[in-house]
Amino acid sequence: MNIALIAHDAKKELMVQFCIAYCGILSRHNLCATGTTGKMVAEATGLSIVRFMSGSQGGDQQIASRISCNEIDLLLFFRDPIGAKSTEPDEANLLRLCDVYNIPMATNIATAEALIHALEHGDLDWRDIVNPK
Ligand code: PGA
Repeated sequence: MNIALIAHDAKKELMVQFCIAYCGILSRHNLCATGTTGKMVAEATGLSIVRFMSGSQGGDQQIASRISCNEIDLLLFFRDPIGAKSTEPDEANLLRLCDVYNIPMATNIATAEALIHALEHGDLDWRDIVNPK
């Protein structure tokens, strides 16, 4: 599965801790991320991550375009619901595209944990059937 990671600044450390905790599962999938999120996770975990531009430079839009091309199977976007900066990615467009393409998406760690367990148990394998690569 192709998994995309994005974290607003206030949630980046949480994303790092999440990826450390689930490194074993994540290592069996293809990962991509916005620039800084990907750098921090890669440095902390050693996971191989395709890094796009930083969110402020359009990295979220690069991920959005891959969702539109059916190249993302799961999006973990840890957003800051209280203090996100105006330069940080706006989740509205990503949420909308995930709904258009039926992409499982988590915007907080509780849902991300549920999805990662579903991924591990094969509950998301229907994505391979609906969207064969
Ligand atoms: P970043 O992008 O991972 O490059 O920081 C996301 C954001 O701007 O919050």
